[in-house]
Amino acid sequence: MRLARPLENLIDQLLILPTIGPKTAQRLALFILKLPVGEVRQLAQAMVDCREKVYPCPRCGYLTDVEPCIICRDESRDQSILCVAEEASDIIAMERTGFRGCYFVLNKNFNLMEDKGLEEIDLQPYMERLQSGKVKEVVLALNPDIDGEILSRYLAKITAAQEVKVTRLAHGLPVGGDIEFADELTLRRALEGRKEF
Ligand SMILES: [Zn+2]
Repeated sequence: MRLARPLENLIDQLLILPTIGPKTAQRLALFILKLPVGEVRQLAQAMVDCREKVYPCPRCGYLTDVEPCIICRDESRDQSILCVAEEASDIIAMERTGFRGCYFVLNKNFNLMEDKGLEEIDLQPYMERLQSGKVKEVVLALNPDIDGEILSRYLAKITAAQEVKVTRLAHGLPVGGDIEFADELTLRRALEGRKEF
């Protein structure tokens, strides 16, 4: 059955979103069709605003629309403990555990095993954080997969060389899983049970 072209176009656009299959895309498109046009405009504008204004904080990697970000600006946070994560979304997961230290996000969007090597990751800002002398402990919160393991070992080595204590999240996180999707309790336990590297 042929659909009206704008409807077909909307379904195609929705299909680029993760977890959205053809049936869900169609259901969402038909739902949008019933909304008042003002609400649809707000929805579309929220997507554009978010994409245009939100970016990773250059200092820590948290998603922000101002500099410094809300975490870097917060003086009540413990500057002596630095959590290293792979993605900005991992910070959102760590924040849910009640962690009150600071962050450094690697923003590595490639596969170490297949695409590139460790030297492709810009660690200069990380070294600067360590050399500031404020950081007493680095908590490695990398995903429990092969890339996470390679990175953890490498970071542990260069961090220990700066005479900063290195710990990593305790096991209990699902192997091959993503920190981002770990449930709050598992992640909090992994943080509390962190072990010296
Ligand atoms: Zn920040």
